[in-house]
Amino acid sequence: MAELEGLEFGKSDFVLLDEVTMDQFMENLKLRFQKGRIYTYIGEVVVSMNPYRQMDIFGKETIEAYRGRELYENPPHLYAVSDAAYKAMKRRAKDTCIVISGESGAGKTEASKYIMQYIAAITNPGQRVEVESVKNVLLKSNCVLEAFGNAKTNRNDNSSRFGKYMDINFNFNGDPTGGHINNYLLEKSRVVHQQQGERNFHSFYQLLRGGSEEMLQSLHLQGDPALYVFTREGAGAATSYNDRSNHKAVMSALDVIGFSNQEITSIYQILASILLLGNVQFEVDGESVQVVEDGVVNQIAELTATDPDCVVKSLLYRTVATGGGEVIEKGHTEQDACFGREAFAKALYERLFGWIVSRINSVIEVKNYNPVLHGKNTVIGVLDIYGFEIFDNNSFEQFCINYCNEKLQQLFIELILQQEQSEYQREGITWQHIDYFNNQIIVDLVEQPHKGIISILDEACLTVGKVTDTVCLESMNTKLAQHPHYTSRKVRISNLLNLCSILPTLCPPSVCCRYSVEGFLDKNKDLLFQDFKRLMYNSANPVLKEMWPDGQLGITEVTKRPLTAASLFKNSIVALVDKLACKEPYYVRCIKPNEVKSPVLFDDARCQHQVAYLGLLENVMVRRAGFAYRQLYSRFLQRYKMTCEYTWPNHLMASDRDAVEAIIRQHGFQDDVAFGHTKLFVRTPRSLFTLEQERAALI
Ligand code: ADP
Ligand code: MG
Repeated sequence: MAELEGLEFGKSDFVLLDEVTMDQFMENLKLRFQKGRIYTYIGEVVVSMNPYRQMDIFGKETIEAYRGRELYENPPHLYAVSDAAYKAMKRRAKDTCIVISGESGAGKTEASKYIMQYIAAITNPGQRVEVESVKNVLLKSNCVLEAFGNAKTNRNDNSSRFGKYMDINFNFNGDPTGGHINNYLLEKSRVVHQQQGERNFHSFYQLLRGGSEEMLQSLHLQGDPALYVFTREGAGAATSYNDRSNHKAVMSALDVIGFSNQEITSIYQILASILLLGNVQFEVDGESVQVVEDGVVNQIAELTATDPDCVVKSLLYRTVATGGGEVIEKGHTEQDACFGREAFAKALYERLFGWIVSRINSVIEVKNYNPVLHGKNTVIGVLDIYGFEIFDNNSFEQFCINYCNEKLQQLFIELILQQEQSEYQREGITWQHIDYFNNQIIVDLVEQPHKGIISILDEACLTVGKVTDTVCLESMNTKLAQHPHYTSRKVRISNLLNLCSILPTLCPPSVCCRYSVEGFLDKNKDLLFQDFKRLMYNSANPVLKEMWPDGQLGITEVTKRPLTAASLFKNSIVALVDKLACKEPYYVRCIKPNEVKSPVLFDDARCQHQVAYLGLLENVMVRRAGFAYRQLYSRFLQRYKMTCEYTWPNHLMASDRDAVEAIIRQHGFQDDVAFGHTKLFVRTPRSLFTLEQERAALI
């Protein structure tokens, strides 16, 4: 709990609200935002408002002020939580993690960068070269990942289009020795299509606008995004993002991280191939489909170190095994050819991104660590992942993202309750269990084997013949009709699947999210013809070949169907939750004040919506259900000893605990507190306020 600041800034911890109501919560949030107090606690959780302006609270002096301090010694800040996570890791050898959530544009990625910078700033006081180089790679990796994984959207000029979990490893000195990055669900559909006003991934514009003439020439490119189908739409989009200077920064970061020249060239050859693929056109010539212009195909072949005839062939034909084991080449329709080309472009980008991440990992992975010599290797994980997305039109991507958030929300509730409980146990306090909404039921609805939505989807994808999205929806409607959190409703234009009560919320109106099933099956199947995989595997460029190991399978060997997109995602999220569950968690909950990036506007309705689905009010209730406030006896005494004649200026009692008891009794608060082994626990904040007011009157 933060030091109680003057009330003109509002309450620095939501547990101190007089009453836990949405109105009071919102009033405090708004007041603090208006007063430039962007951070507020709920216990140890930081609620962070995006200020949309540069704040003078991230400098060296601020870092020093928070370094090694306790949460309550300073006003709420990301640095305080980072320090708490760091201290727990260093002093108690605990693995910790910082989970940052919130909707797009709420400030998650900026927060994760401040956290990393803080950790970098407070470690390695001895300036050891190896540690500095690890820190440098960790910090530089951000620049590369943002170039390839971020894009301008209508919500955020620099929106992360992937989820990121980064482990930072520390030695017994508390200095970083390495790390590991996991990436989740890159939004690869953006490679081939963007909504109006949005852009493709930054990397394309960086290359086209920032690449030297010589570089572009060798890649058969011209430096104008308007010339390429995949970047055309976003070419004119206004953005605060500077492609040219960022291109330089990325090139230099790639070099610092340790990518070889050949690797860097390959990265850009792949980007160029994707841009050129977008410009490949097909025409129907009598019975068959042809590529309109061979020139582009030849360039793609050159850039991917493959044979031009093979490129043409994979674009126009599909090799299939007949029932009798015979292998035949089946010509595509124009529609299939377009579909194949787009799937290929998306897959090229996705694999490139995955490869970049694994290449960074190979540089930062902890090598030669000997626990006997070096002590326990501890970890701080930082999770920057897309928050709930509830749009007017929600599709497969939102379904996956929201499922992920359900899982994280569940973990949040479990861990917070668990943490509370274990503290009460440690302190010898009896605690009354409180009821909370367990969203396991929603998680099950999505992920349960055989019965859940993902299973039903997968089943539809495996069924031979024409199973449409509508047929799949009907199957869900039948199988899930009885489920309290599933409702179906047919809406005129498209088929809408309703998945209700997305969030554990004690505050009405309950939030619900409706999905359109259109495109679910295709996105889940995520089909890429084997011919493309084989083409890439046979590339003479070893870097490219390495990205396509599954291309070595012959057509008759491909018997096992690859896992569907939803199942792959589910597995990765289950693994993520397992990783987080064994760490001590710290939470940052980000809120976006308005839709127009204004530093002054507080959009009440939008903010309230976020508070609701982040379950913040519930968080306060859980925190207050037991004891809202707890403090070590020594510290409590230090702060309030002037309010009691027996303790001012010094007490003569046997222990600090007895002295604190004297203060409490003198004020008649004995029914509102419990005495733990080392801490005083206060049930309602009101008693604390009385003490605080008396204290203020006396000093
Ligand atoms: P998210 O990752 O949640 O989508 P970002 O972290 O990318 O959101 O933040 C979106 C934008 O908001 C940033 O590009 C920046 O302009 C602004 N912003 C976010 N946090 C801060 C901050 N602490 N100080 C100043 N501006 C911020
Ligand atoms: Mg982000």
